[in-house]
Amino acid sequence: MTKITDNSDWRINYVPVDSKITWDEYFMLQAMLASYKSKDPNTKVGCVIVDDHNHQITMGYNGTIAGIDETLIPWGNNREVPLEHQKYGYVIHSEANAISHARGSLTGAKVYVTLFPCNECAKLLASHRVREIIYLSDKYHDTPENRIAKKIFQMSKISYRQLSLSSNTVEYFSDYLKSLLK
Ligand SMILES: [Zn+2]
Repeated sequence: MTKITDNSDWRINYVPVDSKITWDEYFMLQAMLASYKSKDPNTKVGCVIVDDHNHQITMGYNGTIAGIDETLIPWGNNREVPLEHQKYGYVIHSEANAISHARGSLTGAKVYVTLFPCNECAKLLASHRVREIIYLSDKYHDTPENRIAKKIFQMSKISYRQLSLSSNTVEYFSDYLKSLLK
């Protein structure tokens, strides 16, 4: 180790620093992690809602009613059987779950979600006066639910934008997670 001899050497600890990820990437990765917890075999969605200071207010993923055994739910997405035998009769979307578990106001909040919200969630988010939606995928683009959601956001002056996470970001993060196991 170098021996510190005089005041000028105290500069040794002033090393360049940099965060590997932006806040947008950070919260989207959190939303992705939340989605990973979903039991839905077809569509896993995660949502993280944050305040102006980039503090997380709440999170959620698509799942069923709190306190019930989720393995008893019909998780299939075939719409030809009666609704009581479809997941659509039971599943609560990630945004609705995040809203119902929030401990504080969502007014002015930013919503990070892995899939563009449906019209039902758009109604809830707009009623809670969130400010911005940041989403990863818009795979249901131009379906009626999707168009209604966008209309609701426009009427409510809620902005929305897509975040593209580079595969490099995901790879660096994956390598970092693995490094913690050593
Ligand atoms: Zn929804």
